Amino acid sequence: MISSKPTIFCDIDGTLVKHAPLTDSAKKTHKLELLPGTIEKLTEWEKNGYRIILTTGRKECTRAATEQQLQEAGIFYDQLIMNIGGGARYLINDKKPEGDITSFCFCPERNQGIQDIEIWYFFKMFTLQILMQKE
Ligand SMILES: [Mg+2]
Repeated sequence: MISSKPTIFCDIDGTLVKHAPLTDSAKKTHKLELLPGTIEKLTEWEKNGYRIILTTGRKECTRAATEQQLQEAGIFYDQLIMNIGGGARYLINDKKPEGDITSFCFCPERNQGIQDIEIWYFFKMFTLQILMQKE
């Protein structure tokens, strides 16, 4: 079993809030439009002890505007990583010595929201599959 605190790296635009052009989202006055289930899912993850790191392709110079928008929208997090580029994102992490998988990915449709992402269920199914392979 994974006993260390798990971490979620989660995109902002198109994932937690409705996707908007960079020219709009760079403005401090821009209002984020929450997607269904965003606050509920963040709350669930927080309650379950996940560390929440938001990732975004937004430029570092828009940090103040982004932080203000997130706060006004009620989006909370442990850390905000900016300017990582808008392309594909890869998460690489070594397996535990017992063979537990330590990296997963979810790729919801743009603006679909994260309400259907069940991280615990996904982890459990993966672990079961590995245990069955070992037998
Ligand atoms: Mg995005």
